[in-house]
Amino acid sequence: MAPLRRALVIGGSIGGLFAAQFLRQAGWDVALFERSAGDLADRGAGLNTSAELFDGLARAGAAVNPGLAFHVRSSAWLKQDGTIGLEIPRGWHGSTWGTIYRPLRAAFPSALYHAGKAVERVEQDGASVTAIFADGTREQGNLLIGADGVYSTVRRQFLPEIAPTQAGYIAWRGILDERDLPPGAHDVLLERAAFTFPDNELVVSLPVPGADNDARPGHRRYYFIWYRPASAEEQRELFTDASGRNHGLTIPPPLIRAEFIAAMKEVARKVLPPVLGEIVGRVAQPLLQSITDLEAPRMVFGRVALLGDSAFVARPHVAAGTSKVALDAAGLIDALAAHEGDIDAALRQYERERLAFGRAIISHARYLGAYLEAGGATIARDPEQVLREYGAPHLVREMNFD
Ligand SMILES: Cc1cc2nc3c(=O)[nH]c(=O)nc-3n(C[C@H](O)[C@H](O)[C@H](O)COP(=O)(O)OP(=O)(O)OC[C@H]3O[C@@H](n4cnc5c(N)ncnc54)[C@H](O)[C@@H]3O)c2cc1C
Repeated sequence: MAPLRRALVIGGSIGGLFAAQFLRQAGWDVALFERSAGDLADRGAGLNTSAELFDGLARAGAAVNPGLAFHVRSSAWLKQDGTIGLEIPRGWHGSTWGTIYRPLRAAFPSALYHAGKAVERVEQDGASVTAIFADGTREQGNLLIGADGVYSTVRRQFLPEIAPTQAGYIAWRGILDERDLPPGAHDVLLERAAFTFPDNELVVSLPVPGADNDARPGHRRYYFIWYRPASAEEQRELFTDASGRNHGLTIPPPLIRAEFIAAMKEVARKVLPPVLGEIVGRVAQPLLQSITDLEAPRMVFGRVALLGDSAFVARPHVAAGTSKVALDAAGLIDALAAHEGDIDAALRQYERERLAFGRAIISHARYLGAYLEAGGATIARDPEQVLREYGAPHLVREMNFD
């Protein structure tokens, strides 16, 4: 018989860690199960941070320091000739996935983090829920959190018809050490977030902390994300490796075909401002992803709750993936506290609140990205409007360190 309040958390990335840590702090007996056996921290690229994310990290007992993000005070339209067309006082706090993941992982006891455990299915019986793993083992609890990401096994069991759908464009991402930046990059790029608008495309780039959260000049890194329209057919090609294997909506970076990287770099040198084209050209291993939408109509199934990307994946324009998951986990734990032991009532509140938030953020992200869709209507975007509307400031607070 499981103890009265035992939670099984599936997925050991940012969402799973937030949920597991908050539950543990609230007195639950927690076990977290992560499919990957290796260290996740070395993967990932750049992301934006927010006050909500840092509130979540502090609440989780993670070591928070200013080195976790690099603050730029303005956003600028970088014209194709490399000059600045417009600058507005809209700040960003750029970071990298590993920089945020590491302190959160360090705050959570390793004895409760079971790596190399892939859940295959879930069984429920009243107030008891059982996770069945690929290795044949079973774990029982009173609550199961499906924080297993966009391809969630947990979600597929309850909502088999829901899957990520292609938005009609892809993103190339890359990161370069500050010391490898070309001449001229420092003056223009390291003090602001830069937005560039090649025809029907968009590049957003900004400085982020370097290794070991080092945000000192000379030690930072520079991150870009370049959105390019791509039809379903073009994406099928892009995500197929040299052996002919198609990887779906993403592809392990080393398997991206060399000719696609070479072609992308050639275009970069032609259509981007010279300094940015040079940066893209210098990134040895770019990342490639299909931009998708994922929207679950429900998040709670008995004693099973979806959290983070397993329920909603917004296009990256809202720059809020990690903030959203921190808020989901806080919403869950606050609902459990509000209903003092009535888990089912708490889950109803959680679902109501987080569905509304997820829908709002997805819809704003769709609006911001609509003009990038292949075959979609060409909507002329005014650079100033993009600079002002980018991100999700109406849903996620921007930080103010000043
Ligand atoms: C290694 C990594 C790098 C990332 N890098 C970036 C980045 O640079 N920029 C960005 O914006 N976002 C990045 N993301 C996505 C980002 O973490 C999410 O958008 C957001 O934080 C929500 O996280 P999540 O925990 O809900 O989902 P995810 O971060 O997708 O985590 C899901 C976790 O569940 C695990 N899992 C999946 N299936 C099972 C299963 N059957 N059993 C057990 N575990 C399972 C996965 O291995 C993964 O660790 C990255 C995610 C990962 C895992």
